[in-house]
Amino acid sequence: MNKLYQLIQEWGRRSLGDILAEQFRRFKVWWLKTPPNPWPEELDEAVARNDSKMICPRCSTLQSDRAWFCPMRRGGRAI
Ligand SMILES: [Zn+2]
Repeated sequence: MNKLYQLIQEWGRRSLGDILAEQFRRFKVWWLKTPPNPWPEELDEAVARNDSKMICPRCSTLQSDRAWFCPMRRGGRAI
């Protein structure tokens, strides 16, 4: 028998309340789980430090504190 048929057979033996309670429990676990951080810890710390500098995401040129657009490219890239 295939997997779907076995699943349907199993659901037929259980009550609707049990199925809904299980699905709600799974939803709660999924909802409360925090997503994994894709960045290494040392990178997170380097970005959060007070002495870290702001750079252009395209050309990595250092930017001033008040820059909104990169001066290195014509038209400027938003910082
Ligand atoms: Zn740039």
